[in-house]
Amino acid sequence: MPVTGFLIRHVQWPLMERLKENRTRHYLRELQHAQKVSHEQLLDRQSQKLGRLLQHAVQNVPAYASFAADWDHSPVTPERFLQRLPVLTKTHFRQYADEYLTKGALSNKLIGNRTGGSTGEPTRFYLDRLAVERYEAARWLGLSWHGIQIGDPCVMIWGSPLELNQQQARQYRWKERWLKNRLLLSAYELDERRLETHLTLIQRFRPAYLYGYASALHTLAEMMLNRGWTVGVPLKGVVSTAESLHEHQRKKIAEAFLAPVINEYGARDGGIIAFQCSEDRMHAFSENCYLEVVDPITSLPLYPGESGVLLVTDLHNTVMPRLRYQLGDMVALSPDACSCGINYPLLETIDGREDDMFISQNGQYVHGHYFNHIVRNLESFRTFQIIQHEPQSLSLKLVKEPGRFHSADEDRLLAGIRTALGEVSVQVAYVDQIAPTGSGKFRYAIRECPLTSAQPME
Ligand SMILES: [Zn+2]
Repeated sequence: MPVTGFLIRHVQWPLMERLKENRTRHYLRELQHAQKVSHEQLLDRQSQKLGRLLQHAVQNVPAYASFAADWDHSPVTPERFLQRLPVLTKTHFRQYADEYLTKGALSNKLIGNRTGGSTGEPTRFYLDRLAVERYEAARWLGLSWHGIQIGDPCVMIWGSPLELNQQQARQYRWKERWLKNRLLLSAYELDERRLETHLTLIQRFRPAYLYGYASALHTLAEMMLNRGWTVGVPLKGVVSTAESLHEHQRKKIAEAFLAPVINEYGARDGGIIAFQCSEDRMHAFSENCYLEVVDPITSLPLYPGESGVLLVTDLHNTVMPRLRYQLGDMVALSPDACSCGINYPLLETIDGREDDMFISQNGQYVHGHYFNHIVRNLESFRTFQIIQHEPQSLSLKLVKEPGRFHSADEDRLLAGIRTALGEVSVQVAYVDQIAPTGSGKFRYAIRECPLTSAQPME
């Protein structure tokens, strides 16, 4: 197995660089250099990139053309100017996506992508190679903080590439295996019957690390712990991505795989935004993106430490710039410096999806974690899903923990829900299992009604 890693590092990457002009490793070196420069220098570098992006956007992107005159005569910093632009919601972007495409962008340079649509309609957008390679570089930098290098064998627990036919899927798996040293296990096939087969595959492959959705890694970990099985391979880490990583999940994953759990914060339509360091703090890649945290209703900026709606501006995607893109997560920035020696700014918290945020009868926001916390403290339930259809109408699916179920726990759970949300109606149903969403992710808490009547600027 080390042969594959060696070939990837010493033959395949240099070839990709020469023949395809892939610049990922070049960007990785830039990021490695930047993580050591001072906080002020990082801000300055970011500001210059933001200025160039704004200049490009007002000149070449129809959606931002109306800001051109203002930009030309504006004495304010790029950061202040950016605040004059409206928040870009996904709904607005989906409706007017063509307006965000750079005039004259060559179609053969565009890399199409879309979100999985686990929370509704998929968002389609374009990137260019530069932006994709910058994301890749950010991921490799984050992995390098944990001793993982390009070409190290990886088992990915992932949603199947659904859009592929059988032959394409075979090719995809072959490329993953031999060009990337990655073995793919489907997040949809994690059940008790296949557990032994999966563990055998992992043991034979001898990965240096695992990579997958928090919920999928957690499911695998629970099954292993229930049977007292271990993976039998020393791992540098287990990387959780694409979903909120809850504390109880982190503990189970670490216990089952006997390895550190590393959180990557990224999204298809937001890039690789932040990565956990050796001190367990989340560093944001300020060289790649500019982050703002604003109030969910007024869209006014919040102070570090205050949780609000995250707006992402990708500093490198010039074929389809999305400025102040509302990714759909609630986070807080941090004013702290980290003791790990990396100077990239910190995120204080990542509170999860805005869609996981419930609204109470008196207008308070209640995060989905709250319900999770209650259920974790009751023995009776293996898992659950709560959906807020309307502010006063919810449904709750529960999966019993065999042998530990007490009906009084249902009353406790309902009481907890009403303490937070007020006198709401809750339809309770007991089910055998709760299926993941279309993209293979699992969601505990889903809000279907609008958070407020006052939506951000469209
Ligand atoms: Zn750190």
